[in-house]
Amino acid sequence: MARIGVLALQGAFREHCAVLRRLNHEATEVRTPAELAGVEALVIPGGESTTIDKLLDSSALRAPLLERLAAGMPAFGTCAGLIVLSASAVDATPDQRPLAAIDVVAQRNGYGRQVASFEAPVRLLGDERAMPGVFIRAPRIVAVGPGVEVVATLQGEAVAVASGTIMVATFHPELTEDDRLHRRFAALLA
Ligand code: GLN
Repeated sequence: MARIGVLALQGAFREHCAVLRRLNHEATEVRTPAELAGVEALVIPGGESTTIDKLLDSSALRAPLLERLAAGMPAFGTCAGLIVLSASAVDATPDQRPLAAIDVVAQRNGYGRQVASFEAPVRLLGDERAMPGVFIRAPRIVAVGPGVEVVATLQGEAVAVASGTIMVATFHPELTEDDRLHRRFAALLA
């Protein structure tokens, strides 16, 4: 059981907390530098990456968060959270500054406007059972650096990847009952 924070500035943070608690972790909402200092790991939820980016500055969380990530704090970003943790983001706003915690290039709203949101089964590597993938104005992973491992795919394309103790997914595992990605993230803390 770990004390895992969920960045609670905007987006689907309550759902992540609920999954983590179901898995018997202590989940706490993180909105301040003091709250960040009290957690072992951090989940950055889906929502709107441009808004989360701005709120990181107004809540004075950007510098301490960059410090913790550089010091090896495990983090799990879903959808907008993936964009926030990425090395860079295509179609980001000019003032958006991803945290570069994982060597991934994201493309915001990568599926375009026509198919902005959809559900599709995702293949979880090392597991024969597909996982439901809820994609909501999801980003796409358009490039990864060396050492980044594929965790899940959709039609052959990576939709979840990990590097060291950072994991990111383009979809929303917190919106379904399937907690296998959260379990994989928690296993990185052990
Ligand atoms: N399109 C959103 C963004 O750019 C992400 C959507 C989501 O997190 N569901 O941040």
